[in-house]
Amino acid sequence: MCIFCKIIDDEIPSKKVLENENFLAFEDINPQAKIHVLVIPKVHIQSFNEMTPNIMAEMTSFIQEVTVTLGVKSDGYRLITNIGQHGNQEVKHIHFHILAGEQLGRLV
Ligand code: AMP
Repeated sequence: MCIFCKIIDDEIPSKKVLENENFLAFEDINPQAKIHVLVIPKVHIQSFNEMTPNIMAEMTSFIQEVTVTLGVKSDGYRLITNIGQHGNQEVKHIHFHILAGEQLGRLV
């Protein structure tokens, strides 16, 4: 079972930010910004390559809820999903990083 599936099952502890039946948001263990939260679907999907439009639509609403919960919606944030080898994806369970809480450096 992958590490994020274990987090979903509470086999590995996490600092949960928001949860519903289908999605979970929790703090990244190695934060790259003052606020660094990961958002995952509870169903195991390897990466954005395997996402379906329906799950992506539900996940969009959930991510927007998380940004409200974190209080970062109006000041802004960065949303990233790494995909595959060239994208440096370490954990093969799709996740969106929310980076926020400070002025972020420009990437692109
Ligand atoms: P990625 O490189 O996009 O696959 O990102 C994987 C992320 O998962 C990294 O930012 C890690 O710090 C994070 N991570 C790995 N294990 C854990 C864990 N047990 N709890 C929280 N975050 C984790």
